[in-house]
Amino acid sequence: MKKIITIGEILVEIMAVESGHGFTAPIQLVGPFASGAPAIFIDQAAKLGQPCGIVSAVGKDDFGTLNVERLRRDGVDVSAIGIHPTAATGSAFVRYRPDGNRDFIYNIRHSACSAIGLTSEAERLIDGADHLHIMGSALFFDGIVTAIFEATSRIKAKGGTVSFDPNIRKEMLELPGMREALAHALENTDLFMPSGQEIFLFTKSTDEKAAVADLLDRGIKAVVVKRGAQGASYFDRSGEAFAPAFKVEEVDPTGAGDSFGAAFVTCWLRGMEPRKALIVANAIGARAVSVKGPMEGTSTMGEIEAFLNEHGVPA
Ligand code: ATP
Ligand code: MG
Repeated sequence: MKKIITIGEILVEIMAVESGHGFTAPIQLVGPFASGAPAIFIDQAAKLGQPCGIVSAVGKDDFGTLNVERLRRDGVDVSAIGIHPTAATGSAFVRYRPDGNRDFIYNIRHSACSAIGLTSEAERLIDGADHLHIMGSALFFDGIVTAIFEATSRIKAKGGTVSFDPNIRKEMLELPGMREALAHALENTDLFMPSGQEIFLFTKSTDEKAAVADLLDRGIKAVVVKRGAQGASYFDRSGEAFAPAFKVEEVDPTGAGDSFGAAFVTCWLRGMEPRKALIVANAIGARAVSVKGPMEGTSTMGEIEAFLNEHGVPA
């Protein structure tokens, strides 16, 4: 089986129990939960039984232990997670607003994440990998960008593949070097997985069909568009497929896109037919939104089979 790796932040997330506006007064919180988009992605791939690992860093503290033990237990190769001697593990406080938007307070840039880079353990993990998943939100830090560029060229040089989820908010685009790093990622991408409007980040086209055609013309092998509660679509040079989302109650949407991505990449690497892969990934996204906590809704293949038995496979 092909080994998947990713490179980027590990965090804990601490959530407000009630929705409201920000954190300017004492409120009830729940957590810490294991989190970080690359960590959620790789945890989900491991739960599906795919060999996989992450290059990251945590602090010498309980938040780090919580994350590393969780990933190890679920089957992730944690050998390239560094332990920062002084900085704390990254964290994010999140509170939903009544309209469904979120307020965040992040401690990432000055956390243990600042130690993520091309360490000797990272090089060993990269040299044993067949597939690299690039999470655009991880490109905020020079050490991470350097490690991702190096992993991209080493893995592609030996015939491996790259998937890329931009997973980015507009404000992040203005960070120095961000656009260049995203463009470099796209140039090397085999499987591109934007959500909704992100498909227009790298093209002048203003309608989706033209944007997809433009991306495929530039050498990307396949594009998967995540459409939230609508489901997801797949496009390659030989055609397209769509699968509707499953009807579930949305409790916490954080992490659905990351889990969906891991499921699709895993199925794609196993040679599964695209529409079937969309159905598995939609089921995984649906289970992820039904559970509170970013990584708490990741699924095993057994859980997905049970979910599909209960909800039915779309016609
Ligand atoms: P994220 O906020 O994690 O970055 P995303 O924008 O990358 O998410 P979404 O399109 O929101 O990704 O969600 C990914 C997948 O999860 C969807 O394609 C769908 O299969 C599933 N999903 C998301 N929201 C819902 C929902 N409300 N009901 C059912 N399935 C959902
Ligand atoms: Mg996303």
